[in-house]
Amino acid sequence: MKRLSLLCAALTVAFAGQALAEEVVVYSARNEQLIKPLFDAYKKETGVDVKFITDKEGPLMQRLKSEGNNTPADILLTVDAGNLWQASHEGLLKPVKSAALEANVPAHLRDPKGEWFGLSIRARTIFYNTSRVKPQELSSYEDLATAKWKGRLCLRTSKKVYNQSLVAMLMAEHGEAKAEQIVKGWVGNLATDVFPDDTKMLEAIGAGQCDVGIANTYYYGRLMEKNPKLPIGIFWANQKGSGTHVNISGAGVTRYAKNEKGAVRLLEWLSSDKAQNLYADSNMEFPVNPKVKSDPKVAAWGDFKHNYINVAKAGELQAAAVKLMDRAGYR
Ligand code: FE
Repeated sequence: MKRLSLLCAALTVAFAGQALAEEVVVYSARNEQLIKPLFDAYKKETGVDVKFITDKEGPLMQRLKSEGNNTPADILLTVDAGNLWQASHEGLLKPVKSAALEANVPAHLRDPKGEWFGLSIRARTIFYNTSRVKPQELSSYEDLATAKWKGRLCLRTSKKVYNQSLVAMLMAEHGEAKAEQIVKGWVGNLATDVFPDDTKMLEAIGAGQCDVGIANTYYYGRLMEKNPKLPIGIFWANQKGSGTHVNISGAGVTRYAKNEKGAVRLLEWLSSDKAQNLYADSNMEFPVNPKVKSDPKVAAWGDFKHNYINVAKAGELQAAAVKLMDRAGYR
């Protein structure tokens, strides 16, 4: 009898272990409404449960740090290569090797060490008031620093990682001194104080408070869907040079993942043809997998040349970019 109950206990533990091994736990800085449909689809296809919590990336990383090897999280999912690089830098992620991820995610949109992978692309490009600016007058981020845009430029605050990443990429391309000149030029051209978010900045362009500005494409998509008559145009920056600055939303396997295999399988699935439209279209982003076509609404903005510098640079140079923006008076 004693042996039987021990056996039962052992079996219960084995089954519980198996059930736990099956489920994947995700800490997500991406909104519930964007990720839940994906995880529901994954469950339907594979039978695997995905449990998740959502919060801002700062608190999620803090949580991973304080939980250490007791963390229930298998995956950290967030936006901006700057944030993913930071998580990797703080030792919160572990490198994984996956032929599927390497095939589905272009090399410049994933960590060279394999600690994180892009899952969707957002471009940070130039927007303009269509009744005050002709697209032929526009060319590049660098050009927005020249005297012709004096009093006409609007920007979002430098506190946002999106702008830190953009400036980091300018530093990677031009070196620190020239990048600082460019940022100083922007600051000198500002029409008004910096904006707390991309949407307010775009609305100011629509209202004619400024003529040009820089924002992420999906904010433009959302705003124009709500108010298609706004006189705001999209312009692909730096097409004659190194291409438009792109960034990612993406994910990595946590250092202390209990279900590493399950985590990798989920990431592979998220990067696959099956999931990419579901992942990207819901936020008007571009699929990261080159075999997958964009949503028609997004494709309507036209094709553009991407900047192919590895987005990891945005993280490597983030601290220096923050200092540079401070010196340039970009608040
Ligand atoms: Fe955003």
